[in-house]
Amino acid sequence: MKIPFVDLAQQSTNLIDDILPAIENVIHKASFILGAEVELFESEFAEFCDSRFAVGVANGTEALHLALRALEIGPGDEVITAANTFAATAYAILHAGATPVIADVDPLDYCLDTQAVADAITPRTKAIIPVHLYGQPARMNELSELADRHNLFVVEDACQAHGAKYHGRSVGSLGHLGCFSFYPGKNLGAFGDGGAVVTNDERLAEELRLLRNYGQRIKNRHDAMAFNSRLDTLQAAVLLVKLSKLPSWNEKRRHIADLYAEYLANTELVLPHVRDEASHVYHLYVVRHPQRDALMAHLNDRDVQCGIHYPIPIHRHRPFEQVRTVPAGVPVASQLAGEILSLPMYPEMTEEAVQYVAEAMGECVTENVTQ
Ligand SMILES: *Cc1c(COP(=O)(O)O)cnc(C)c1O
Repeated sequence: MKIPFVDLAQQSTNLIDDILPAIENVIHKASFILGAEVELFESEFAEFCDSRFAVGVANGTEALHLALRALEIGPGDEVITAANTFAATAYAILHAGATPVIADVDPLDYCLDTQAVADAITPRTKAIIPVHLYGQPARMNELSELADRHNLFVVEDACQAHGAKYHGRSVGSLGHLGCFSFYPGKNLGAFGDGGAVVTNDERLAEELRLLRNYGQRIKNRHDAMAFNSRLDTLQAAVLLVKLSKLPSWNEKRRHIADLYAEYLANTELVLPHVRDEASHVYHLYVVRHPQRDALMAHLNDRDVQCGIHYPIPIHRHRPFEQVRTVPAGVPVASQLAGEILSLPMYPEMTEEAVQYVAEAMGECVTENVTQ
């Protein structure tokens, strides 16, 4: 058996009869930029996120960048985020001209540690970007309370968590702005790049519409510093079809996670920890073991594709060498980087495939790695 990390071709093939007519329709209308499908997708995606507004943008990085711009965050301002996120979160802060400040994460759920964030706050801090890492919501109540006390904005990086809930509420609707990526491999993925920002704040939504489209409220009048950062109509048409499937796909991901948990229960692997108030959407299924590299090599030998999200903490990458870390450093994130392993996870994964991965893992954890 050969187990891929994800199987996008399978997903697209299953939907081809719905997606091709949607694409054809856009082609016939030739309304490729800000066409009707964009607005329709925005309204459906906003509703899906329990939010009043969604603004489609070019990708998830841009969603974060423009969100910070809409909040007028820029040079001289600090933005606190997690040390173990995808580089895009930190790039977006740099794109806005602000300074990323890296805080450590909770050793159980790998999301921002509230005390670490509190320790990182200075008079220059303007916002916190909690990352709903791997599909599990960060501790939003604690972080929002902290933010309120210090007059900070909360911008959610929900790029890995479409449909995840926290105390029954959808991620994206929990902070001032919620940012999503529709990169093909995400839980909701386009046929290319795409992104969106959701919010309940009408003024911020309007600001984002200006930021993504040359500052034009009406054509040929440029009212603000702005960018070209729009969601393509073709991508919106694809996303409309896929959005209807997303709840069932997330359900399947949870089922696969349950199977993994069952098959791997008696190993010394640390399995994902889901907090009571969170519903996880398993963008990634990440386990932990001190001999991660040996484990990964073994799985590769058995034709199981794995990943590491992420092997190097943010502040160790060249563009982010200037970021500020708190004096205590980020010991949890640094240790995680050497121990985490992402197993194959996609809605189309069969029970046999999960079993195969678990068996391959079992051989190694008990016979090789622990010797
Ligand atoms: C994918 C991702 C992004 C960036 O999204 P793009 O659409 O690739 O720009 C940002 N943050 C996190 C946590 C992500 O996983």
